[in-house]
Amino acid sequence: MAASPPRTSHLSRQLDLAQLAAELQAPIGLRAVVLGTDALDDLTGLVPAGASVAVLTDGVAKRRGERDLLQEVERRLRGPAVTTVVLGGPSGRVHADKATLTDATQRCAGVSWIVTVGSGTLADIGKAVSTRLDDVSHVVVQTATSVNGFADDQSVLLVDGVKRTTRTRWPDFLIADADVLTGAPAALNVAGVGDLLAMFTAPADWRLAHMLGMADSYSAGAVALARRHGPEVLSLAPRVAQGDPVAVTKVAEVLAYSGISMGVAGTTAPASGMEHTVSHLVEMAMNRQGRDSAFHGAQVGVSTVVASALWSRVRKLLTAKVRLDFPSEGTMEERVRDAFADLDPSGAMGGECWRLYSRKLRRWSANRRALEKADWRAVDQEVAPLLGGREELAEALVAAGAPARFSELDPAPSPDLVRWALASCHLMRDRFTVADLAFFAGAWGPGDVDSVLGEAASLGGGL
Ligand SMILES: [Zn+2]
Repeated sequence: MAASPPRTSHLSRQLDLAQLAAELQAPIGLRAVVLGTDALDDLTGLVPAGASVAVLTDGVAKRRGERDLLQEVERRLRGPAVTTVVLGGPSGRVHADKATLTDATQRCAGVSWIVTVGSGTLADIGKAVSTRLDDVSHVVVQTATSVNGFADDQSVLLVDGVKRTTRTRWPDFLIADADVLTGAPAALNVAGVGDLLAMFTAPADWRLAHMLGMADSYSAGAVALARRHGPEVLSLAPRVAQGDPVAVTKVAEVLAYSGISMGVAGTTAPASGMEHTVSHLVEMAMNRQGRDSAFHGAQVGVSTVVASALWSRVRKLLTAKVRLDFPSEGTMEERVRDAFADLDPSGAMGGECWRLYSRKLRRWSANRRALEKADWRAVDQEVAPLLGGREELAEALVAAGAPARFSELDPAPSPDLVRWALASCHLMRDRFTVADLAFFAGAWGPGDVDSVLGEAASLGGGL
């Protein structure tokens, strides 16, 4: 049984989830989000004394001020039945793949509470494990402002080596303690700013998809929530790297809104469009090569600058003349499988991508008559307000001390890998983005990829 929502100490505060749910006219599965100084103290009131608890974490040492964070968490959990489940090796990199999920589920079986202590991938695993174990309550102690995926009911999991967003379960409680967050590496906290920049491209992708009959739903309320604090995030960015607790707490709050927007929308679309597919492909390719990739949010940030440059081009196309292509399934299946053949010669990855891409292609073909009569100026007018200023994005990344170019990522993907990820990003999943429209309009060939990278470079981003 879950405890009643926590009593908040005077230094931390809770998001008003009831108000948000009323505004969005949608239920929010989170019971409380506690933010700020001493937010961790609320853990004691949340988890009943004596409850059996698994603390799910990875091997990376985490601190709260001068102290060890895991010890601080365990100290606040009263009772002998607390076990710590450490995933991955001492290097800390954990992947949300099948083997890890099975291992984590087995080791958490039988407990009534899971307390996940970690950043994005750990939270994704915790949400997936709590879904598999019925009647378990879940608290996430967020250790960095790295991504927006703490406050929603979806997890990015690896299926046949392909990153897939999968419906899992809302955490019951999210704790974003300022002293924990400011102890995270600056580059990890700054990565969250990069992840948030997707608010300036992803909603336009979603609106486009819905207007073209390529998405089932669209929620203006969810998009507004995801974008609500955009200007504030851009102006706070420089203070995040300095470890300013107020700035870091604010970014945690905006990341939570972004997560909630995805949860209530039932899709990550309010905050994940083309820029995320590029980031996913870069990461998948580097992992296949046995290399670590840069932080998710850092990759999303640099990819957003390029997606924004492509949007500018496509908007010019929309107001000129759009000629659409409706390729056959055979042509596209070959193309999808070819795109992933080098990465995974077994063909499993190409097969997994085709499984979802084929749905998008069938829908595209089925909509042909409507698409050939589409009012492109109306589409342009709808998406324009959802796009950020092109110059602002790279500027914000630079001001935050975050990478703005792919070559500044740590580790950096090769230029050829970046070109491949851009050219192939529309082939990995069923969600329709600006890259799909560019492709079907004959404007996403190798030359186009290079010239969009060139435009992004003139804005301070690109290769
Ligand atoms: Zn993201």
